[in-house]
Amino acid sequence: MSEILESYAGGRWVAGTGEGREVRDAVTGETVTRVSSEGIDLGGVVAHAKAKGGPSLRAMTFPERAAALKAAAGAVQAGKDRLYELSAQAGCTARDAAVDVDGGIGTAMVYSSLGRKGLPDGTVIVEDDFIQLGKEGVFGGRHVLTSPHGLSLQINAFNFPVWGMLEKLAPALLAGVPTIVKPATPTAHIAVEAVRMMIESGALPEGALQIVAGSIPGLFDELGGQDHIGFTGSADTAAMLRGDAAVTRRSAHFNAEADSLNASVLGPDAVPGEPEFDLFVKALVTEMTVKAGQKCTAIRRALVPAAQMDAVAEAVAARLGGIGIGAPGAEGVRMGALVGTDQRDDVRAAAARIAQAGQIVYGDLERVDVIGADADKGAFMSPVLVRVDDADRAEPHEVEAFGPVSSLIGYRDVEHAVELLARGEGSLAGSVVSADADFVTDVIAGAAPFHGRILVLDRDSAPESTGHGTPMPQLVHGGPGRAGGGQEEGGLRAVHAHLQRTAIQGSPAVLGRLGE
Ligand code: NAP
Repeated sequence: MSEILESYAGGRWVAGTGEGREVRDAVTGETVTRVSSEGIDLGGVVAHAKAKGGPSLRAMTFPERAAALKAAAGAVQAGKDRLYELSAQAGCTARDAAVDVDGGIGTAMVYSSLGRKGLPDGTVIVEDDFIQLGKEGVFGGRHVLTSPHGLSLQINAFNFPVWGMLEKLAPALLAGVPTIVKPATPTAHIAVEAVRMMIESGALPEGALQIVAGSIPGLFDELGGQDHIGFTGSADTAAMLRGDAAVTRRSAHFNAEADSLNASVLGPDAVPGEPEFDLFVKALVTEMTVKAGQKCTAIRRALVPAAQMDAVAEAVAARLGGIGIGAPGAEGVRMGALVGTDQRDDVRAAAARIAQAGQIVYGDLERVDVIGADADKGAFMSPVLVRVDDADRAEPHEVEAFGPVSSLIGYRDVEHAVELLARGEGSLAGSVVSADADFVTDVIAGAAPFHGRILVLDRDSAPESTGHGTPMPQLVHGGPGRAGGGQEEGGLRAVHAHLQRTAIQGSPAVLGRLGE
C-alpha cells in the first residue's frame, strides 16, 4: 500500500493515519498516493496559524510581505519541473500544466509587484482625505484598513492545485493573514509539493502557511469573525459550507467561486471568411480541450446566429478532429486525461443529459481513440459538441459537464443572445466575438449584470488577447449567482477584501496622523 501524503501542520510534516482515500494516476490508473488527515490536530493547526503566523506577518510591513511572497513564488518556479511531472500523472499535458503552475507563479509575482508599488511602507492603509462631517471643519472621518487577527482557510477545487492556491495565498499574505490550505483530494499531492517548496525555501515566517491534505472535520468550529474562508468548487459544496455556523452565526467571511455555464457569443457580422469567425471557432476548441475542459471558465455554451449553426458545427468538428488525445508527453497528444475515472463518468453522465436537448455533432460519449495509453485504464474522453436547436431547452443552461463538452445553441437577435447569456444565472466569464461595435455594446450592457468578466474578441485585440478562459490577477475573477457570488483577484481589491475597514472619526489633527 502506498504511503499517506504528508500535511504541513503545526510547524512539522506529518502523515495522517488510517487507509485514506486513494489517488490514482489519471493515465495508467496506478495508485499515486493516499490522502488522510486522520489523527492530525486540526485545532492545533488553527492555533499555530493564529499564535505564530499571524503575529509574525502583522509585524512585517507591506513591502516586506511582498518580498516574502516573491521569494516563495521563486521557490515554486525553481521546482516547477517536478510539478509538471506530477501534473502529467493527473492527466495534464505540458500546456495544461503551464496554465496551473506558470499561471500560479505569475499571479503571485504580479501580486508581489502590486504590493510593492501600490501599498504603503507600513502595516496600515488609510483611505480618503479628511471627510468633513461638521460645519466648522473640526470634526470628520477617514477609513483605515488593518490586518484581522484571524486566518485564511482556502478550500480548493481539484483542477488548479497550484494556481488556485497561489492566487488565494498572495492577497492573504500581503494582508498579513496566515493561510491554511485544504487542497482537493485528487490533486492534493501537487499542492503539497508546491507548499513543500515554499516551506523549505524559508521565505515565509513559520505559521504563515500550512496545508492539510484530507478532510477537515470540526475545523469550521474554530473559525469566526476574524477569519476568511475562500472556497472554490461545486455549487453544492459551496451551499453546504456557506450554511455553517462559522459563517451564519460568527460571521467568518466566506467567498465562493463555484461552477458556471459560461457562454461565448458569435456576432452576426462574423460570417465564415471573417477573422472573427475563425477566432470564435479556435477559442471554442481551445476552451473545450485545454485541461480536457476541466476549467471553471471554459465555454460551456456557444451561442451563434441560427443561420450559422451548420457552418460553426462543421468548422469546430474539423478542428477537434485534429486534436490527438492520450498520454501527456506522447507524440501527437494535445489533450490529456480527466483527473480520474470517477470524474470522467460524471462528465459523461452530464453530457448525456445535455444531449437529450439536441444531438451530438462531434464526439462519442463511450468511445475514444487514445495515443500512448490504455483507454480503459486512463480517464480519457472524447470532446463532445452537442447541437441544441431549441434554445429554450433547460439542459444546456443548467447542467455543467466539467470536461471537454460544449453545446452549440442558435440565437435570433441581440436581445435573444443576451437573454440566453443570462440563462446561466450568473457566470464567471462570457465572451463576445464580433467586430460590430453596436452589437458588442448591446451585449455588454445586457449581460454585464450576469457576469464577473466579459471578453470582447476581434481582429484588433486578438494578437494580445489572453483568451476567454484566463482570469488575470489585475482583474476580478468570480461571478454572481450560480458562479458563487464571490470575487477574487482584481489587483489590490483582493488584499483589501482580507483587511478590516474601520471608520475613524475625530479632529483633522488626529485624522491627519493616521497616514504618517
Ligand atoms: P467539490 O467537490 O465541490 O470540492 C471542492 C473542495 O471542497 C475540495 O477541496 C473538497 O475536498 C472540499 N470539500 C468537500 N466537502 C467538504 C467539506 N464538508 N468540508 C470542507 N471541504 C470540503 O468540487 P471539485 O470537484 O473539486 O471541483 C470541480 C468544481 O469546481 C466544478 O463544478 C467547477 O466548476 C468548480 N470550479 C470553480 C472555479 C472557480 O473559480 N469558480 C475554479 C475551479 C473549479 P475533497 O476533494 O477532499 O472532497
